[in-house]
Amino acid sequence: MEYWKGAVKYLKKKNLEPDPSKNIQFVNNDGTLRIRDILHILKSDNPDEIESLYKQARDVCDENYGRSIYFRGLIEVTNYCKNNCYYCGIRAQNKCINRYRLNKDQIRACCDTGYRIGLRTFVLQGGEDPFLETGMLADIVQDIRKKFPDCAITLSFGEKTREEYQTLFDAGVNRYLLRHETANNAHYGKLHPDQMSLSNRKKCLYILKEIGFQTGAGLMVGSPYQTWEMLIEDLCFLKELEPQMVGIGPFIPHKDTPFGNFKSGSVSLTLKMLALCRIILPKALIPATTALGSVDPSGREKAFGAGANVVMPNLSPLEIRKDYSLYDNKLYTGDEAGEYVASLADRIERAGYIPDFSRGDHS
Ligand code: SF4
Repeated sequence: MEYWKGAVKYLKKKNLEPDPSKNIQFVNNDGTLRIRDILHILKSDNPDEIESLYKQARDVCDENYGRSIYFRGLIEVTNYCKNNCYYCGIRAQNKCINRYRLNKDQIRACCDTGYRIGLRTFVLQGGEDPFLETGMLADIVQDIRKKFPDCAITLSFGEKTREEYQTLFDAGVNRYLLRHETANNAHYGKLHPDQMSLSNRKKCLYILKEIGFQTGAGLMVGSPYQTWEMLIEDLCFLKELEPQMVGIGPFIPHKDTPFGNFKSGSVSLTLKMLALCRIILPKALIPATTALGSVDPSGREKAFGAGANVVMPNLSPLEIRKDYSLYDNKLYTGDEAGEYVASLADRIERAGYIPDFSRGDHS
């Protein structure tokens, strides 16, 4: 029952009755979630119900953002990390990978390429690398901010103190991504070593919002030990936090981690969670994640159909891309950034959407 703690505040007695399968609604008029109906759709294998969920989610996206799919240029800055999350391929204890760290000039060169292609958002991502102190990051950000004043800068470098986040915000960062991974305390403990805590992760997310970042949370679907109730708890937490961005991808094992023998999360359950996120957070920016594209060749198109509206092509130097291996069989393209962005834009158009290279801020 512990799993329902977060959900309780969203439960209304009248919604405890089984809902007829037609015309399922997931949010009440007052914004509270209809837990029973959400659980029903998560477990459903009725194609009509699932199609109707996707359509509802896509309609919500169309109403808020039209058919635009926003492009973000991703730069994988460092694969050093001091942490040991059990699911992650770049965890500190994995001795089987080549470690790298881009310097300021290399990062600027990636931004140059992205800007030339037309991208107006740069996402700098990395592990919690002890060498890359906040002051160094702030210096890199100021450099990018000065050279590309019209671009949005997003960072994703894990947990920091309020002061550190503030320093980065003052340096010119607009957005910060920090997946919560699971909103259930017991589950968090099964995915992470004791040194890490869900309470601190949540605290960081609230601090980011308070400071004024456009804040991104998110989770892996199908991670080891996850239950239906935990997925509902995730949705409740997201509704409460109201992040401007939500990243949802399937769990994919990495062979050199403690979770190497677990199976991947399902694409269809991931798409259902994505669609539910779109419905409960209509204005969220939601990427069609690389993980989805890695487990299903048409995963990205399916994600657009379920309400995703962001893609994040990789601007990192070709020679290091294989080393940023968070999970096995990560979609890897040896294409130069320009070539890849052009082919991605083409795929998006063919799927009936509009490639949008503008900053694409949360509205
Ligand atoms: S998930 Fe993030 S914090 Fe955890 S080991 Fe991987 S890079 Fe480090």
